[in-house]
Amino acid sequence: MGTHLTPLARQALATLRTHPSRTLLAFDFDGTLAPIVEDPEKSRPYPGATEALAALAERGARIAVITGRPAEVAVRYGQFEGVEGMTVLGHYGAERWDQATKTVTAPPPPPALDAVRAELPGILGAMDVWVEEKGRAVAVHTRRAKDPQGLWEALRQPIAELAARHGLIVEPGRLVLEIRPAGMDKGAALHSLVEETGVTAVLYAGDDLGDLPAFDAVDALREAGTPGVLVCSGSEEVTALRDRADLVVAGPPGVVELLGQLVNDVS
Ligand SMILES: [Mg+2]
Repeated sequence: MGTHLTPLARQALATLRTHPSRTLLAFDFDGTLAPIVEDPEKSRPYPGATEALAALAERGARIAVITGRPAEVAVRYGQFEGVEGMTVLGHYGAERWDQATKTVTAPPPPPALDAVRAELPGILGAMDVWVEEKGRAVAVHTRRAKDPQGLWEALRQPIAELAARHGLIVEPGRLVLEIRPAGMDKGAALHSLVEETGVTAVLYAGDDLGDLPAFDAVDALREAGTPGVLVCSGSEEVTALRDRADLVVAGPPGVVELLGQLVNDVS
């Protein structure tokens, strides 16, 4: 793989090759393992993704998915039940599913979300948005509108104000604004997983703004001497991750290709 890699990124890949059980491979779901689709309920991994994760797990690597979705949904869409020892962190880490126990654990959802749900219709009116109920979060999608980007920008401020009024935050994403409690982000989730598993190298792949905290976490680990690789699942919609990634691949098909290379490397 690319000679342009930083020494710590190269070292992380070397650790994966020689000591897969000391490596954590963590992935965002939508836009990284699964192509972005208009209907979020139709999102599924790109062909070969789950099989490659299972092959890497079989070779001893620790596999995790860290997503804004409920953990159970990501497990079901991804068919992750067969991926040995896998962990799925849902709702940016507020929920956790482990393949070993096949159960989801989570604290109760915050009551402030009910107040947001009650006020949202008054803000959205007749706008052409789709509101996704995520249990621990509420997501407003503008993808189906005539001017998706324009509507997304117009809604950013009023939705941020609504969230702030109830002590919640807004996580902006690709044509989606998600209202959820603060203190949950992919960076904290990734960091605690690294600590818990005691791995000595980490790879994280993501495609969206919500993945930036995980990129920060890998940067912090690298500063502390732990080898890490950052992978950007490239898209036309978001460029913020590109500049910081060690590897930029062409969306979920590119991620699956990379996974295939890793499987071969570890064999
Ligand atoms: Mg994503």
